[in-house]
Amino acid sequence: MNSVKELLSAIKKNSFGRSNFRSTKEVNNVIRFAIGISLNYANKLGYTQQEVLNALESKRSYWALNYYQSSRFPKITNNTHIYPSYTDFACKFPSHRFRCPCCNGLSTDPSTCDTKLPAKTKSGICDWKAYGLFGTLGKGYRFVVKDTFLENPVIYDIFKPLELE
Ligand SMILES: [Zn+2]
Repeated sequence: MNSVKELLSAIKKNSFGRSNFRSTKEVNNVIRFAIGISLNYANKLGYTQQEVLNALESKRSYWALNYYQSSRFPKITNNTHIYPSYTDFACKFPSHRFRCPCCNGLSTDPSTCDTKLPAKTKSGICDWKAYGLFGTLGKGYRFVVKDTFLENPVIYDIFKPLELE
């Protein structure tokens, strides 16, 4: 496992062939964000900062400036539900029905609307994606799975489960 110092140094480097950072300020902002978010995830999930930063860096395949964004890595706040495992999450929402924020129908897929209800899209039916530009329009459900977080460091934002209505 790489040390925090080694990881931060890798973030500073231009290792994926993109244009270099334009200023020291830009580098410092990315480093500050990476330190802050890795500490937040470590504290909330019970891992070390080194473990979290290794996990985040292992998934990075492009320039750090585009990767370390709050849209991709939002802070774990009181509105983020933490589940010990995916099974715990699945057991809490057995209906497997999720409210699409666009067409307001119930989708069986938590992140891509499959209601086939009419909507203003090319095909004329709703295909809203929770991971699209506009996310869940503030009507989603944000959660994180602790036991697989280091293999899959993702904060999920899905359509709101039916059980919460
Ligand atoms: Zn929909």
